[in-house]
Amino acid sequence: MILSISTSHKPTSDLGYIFHKHPDKFQSFNFSAGKYHIFYPELNNDKATICLLLDIDPIEIVKILRNNTPDGFPLGDYVNDRPYVASSFMSVAIAKGFSSAIKGKCKEKPELVNTKLPFEVFITSLPSPKGGEILIRKLFEPLGYQLEIERQTLDLKFPEWGMSKYYNVKLKNTLTTKELLSHLYLLIPVLDFDKHYFISDDEIEKLIDKGTTWLNIHPEKEQIIRRYLINLNSLTSKALERISDNEILNNETEKISIKDVTEQKKETLHIKRINTVVDKLIESGAKTILDLGCGEGKLIKQLLKHKQFNKITGMDVSYNELLKAKERLNYNDLPPKQKERINLIHGSLTYRDKRLEGYDAAALIEVIEHLELSRLKSMERVLFEFAKPKLIIITTPNKEYNSIWEKLDSIDMRHKDHRFEWTRSEFLNWSINISKTYNYNSEIFPIGEEIENIGAPTQMAIFKYGN
Ligand code: SAH
Repeated sequence: MILSISTSHKPTSDLGYIFHKHPDKFQSFNFSAGKYHIFYPELNNDKATICLLLDIDPIEIVKILRNNTPDGFPLGDYVNDRPYVASSFMSVAIAKGFSSAIKGKCKEKPELVNTKLPFEVFITSLPSPKGGEILIRKLFEPLGYQLEIERQTLDLKFPEWGMSKYYNVKLKNTLTTKELLSHLYLLIPVLDFDKHYFISDDEIEKLIDKGTTWLNIHPEKEQIIRRYLINLNSLTSKALERISDNEILNNETEKISIKDVTEQKKETLHIKRINTVVDKLIESGAKTILDLGCGEGKLIKQLLKHKQFNKITGMDVSYNELLKAKERLNYNDLPPKQKERINLIHGSLTYRDKRLEGYDAAALIEVIEHLELSRLKSMERVLFEFAKPKLIIITTPNKEYNSIWEKLDSIDMRHKDHRFEWTRSEFLNWSINISKTYNYNSEIFPIGEEIENIGAPTQMAIFKYGN
């Protein structure tokens, strides 16, 4: 991804002094995440443009990911959007590539430091999850920017997949170079709202420094800090200490701890879900099990503890999840007899698959809500008509319970990847219909604390083949 900064300031050759980079040179630099290149695609009497192009090495990112997660995140996201989007790596490159400009230094022409210049900036593939175009405007407009925003489609070949969370953004403003770079340095990761992979505490300190001059008067100050801090993991507390405004500090600490409590509750519920499903599978006498949408293999890990289950197949549409499952199960170091019991396969529940036939039971824990409603019918046929195990266990959130969770997303779903969530009656109707169509009997059970008129957080349907 590329960041380009243009100006019509005269003489245009000043841009070379401002950024301390010779306009005739194409320069490449190594940094922690790969390489970045700086060059001038345009320099004439009317306009000068300098570009910062990131060339991120996906393997290097995985190493950074590993080193930055205290719990030793297993394999890192080998497949992710990081090499292709504007993220905190862009901030690192800005700080390194334009280090004197961002500090407000210009040896040859010091008068340029405090000169407000007409800038036009273009950022490609800027992610803005949970906020979109409105958030981009809310962040930049109060700082005096005029914006042109274009949202990217998810895939040009498949327009029906809809729009993505990535934007091409053009910004116009007249301000000093230091101001411009400090805004970009901070607001790109704020919009990206993903984990930060800064290399050291120093980076955090620099970042806080860059924000303090303008952040205190920004109407979205709280949101900027919240989005920025939320993913700083172990460095959060250190970064918090650097923020002088105690009011925000207390407020933010509180929000973060509320989130922790909710996250813990969700984690406990997930363990309960898995244990309930394991109990039901034991009770049924099933020996061969399909874990469809197995994710990181949490269910498989529990099933392995019981000799009754002699063949456990986990399938997921995400290769990355399967890699995590392999790691979680310690697959490579398992004794051969244990290895033989496990089979991890890459596949989708929406395509008929011979590999899924002949099993005693199938479990789909918190999976159906990840499918588009329009693809649900295909999943039903794949599972109930073709794979046709004797027992099928499906769990899904009870939408009515969402009001109980604190700090849910504004879209009112429990997970950003959920395509739908059902009330108890919606799930019941669906399971009755399925049972009729495919000759199963079904029963519904609650999982987790039950509340009057609302129900439990999770609902589980158990389908048994035949009458
Ligand atoms: N069952 C796991 C994971 C739940 S998250 C657990 O309880 O821990 C939902 C999982 O469904 C994700 O791993 C996702 O990759 C997977 N998934 C989503 N759509 C799928 C599809 N069409 N086919 C198979 N798996 C799918």
